[in-house]
Amino acid sequence: TLTFASLATALYTAYKLYRTYGDPVLRELPSVKDGIEELIGKTQIVKLRSLSAETGCDIFAKLELTNPAGSAKDRVALNIIKTAEKKGLLVRGEKPEGWVFEGTSGSTGISIAMICNALGYRAHISLPDDTSLEKLALLESLGAVVNPVKPASIVDPDQYVNAAKKACDELNESGAAKGVFADQFENEANWRVHYETTGPEIWDQMDHNIDGFIAGCGTGGTITGVSKYLKEVSHPYVVLADPQGSGFYNRINYGVMYDEVEKEGTRRRHQVDTIVEGIGLNRITRNFKHGEKYIDESIRVTDKQAVGMAKYLSIHDGFFAGSSTAINAVAAVKLAKRLPAGSRIVIIACDSGSRHLSKFWKEAKIVDREVTLDEIMSS
Ligand code: PMP
Repeated sequence: TLTFASLATALYTAYKLYRTYGDPVLRELPSVKDGIEELIGKTQIVKLRSLSAETGCDIFAKLELTNPAGSAKDRVALNIIKTAEKKGLLVRGEKPEGWVFEGTSGSTGISIAMICNALGYRAHISLPDDTSLEKLALLESLGAVVNPVKPASIVDPDQYVNAAKKACDELNESGAAKGVFADQFENEANWRVHYETTGPEIWDQMDHNIDGFIAGCGTGGTITGVSKYLKEVSHPYVVLADPQGSGFYNRINYGVMYDEVEKEGTRRRHQVDTIVEGIGLNRITRNFKHGEKYIDESIRVTDKQAVGMAKYLSIHDGFFAGSSTAINAVAAVKLAKRLPAGSRIVIIACDSGSRHLSKFWKEAKIVDREVTLDEIMSS
């Protein structure tokens, strides 16, 4: 017989089950993780409302800046380290600890340093000595050995990538500990992780409906991995957003690296000529080469446009962008003007403005808050 007490118990049990498994708010919450490295990836996507309203297209940002070490490079650093572990080049818990060496404009070094600490390795990071102060301070705070070198061309043995490889070779020759050269520009663990994670995440989060994808190119890992995946499942128009002084623009649009088309760029190196960090290069890396065929066009963006855009997004969306994110947003507006109204464009937001306060944002900060999007685009 149904008593009041049994009915109440049944109802209470159902309520508890609902609170545990059925509540949509709770269901969306990620589970507790075992360590910092498990927080990497599955980043959110947000609509950039101001740009969407102004252009009539929907423009979204994939928030790679919410990775634990603050950029998309967390995915790459973790995959490079895991790949080295699979080959037995790094062993967790081994004494003396294994070392990871890298040459980087900063972001990858910060990701490597954080993951090394989490997994019991040491990090040795070579980078150009004009890298933003925030990145240097972060690396030092994470206890990495930091090796700032003079900005130089890749043919110079003291260039930061060459310096990293040399330091790694020296450790291995000494026999004091094991060293691995991460080699993000040439290491294909880079684009693969974007093909396996970032690309599928975007496709799923966008409900299998995306018309344009935009990223900058440093190593080429992001644009290669994501574009390869998206082109396999759909036909989005892929744009490489390129800062001034970089060769990709001419390579993609005219098939030649800058010197044949844009003589003025011949001796340029991005940190010297632009305040935008992490993207732009004048050589073809393995990670870029692998994905070049998926890129439909490159759009050139000036520092001035990027600075204006960063301020605009901060003022109108509360979105505090790093320099490469601002470059991508400018390219998105240019693309939106050409695509049919309502088209859906996704940009990569690689890192946040807080990493660029002393350089890029020093310029962006002083931009007048009344500047319009049209003024930014024609600046
Ligand atoms: N944005 C920032 C801030 C970066 O540091 C980098 C990588 N150096 C990129 C974009 C470009 O990413 P990728 O190396 O995958 O081409």
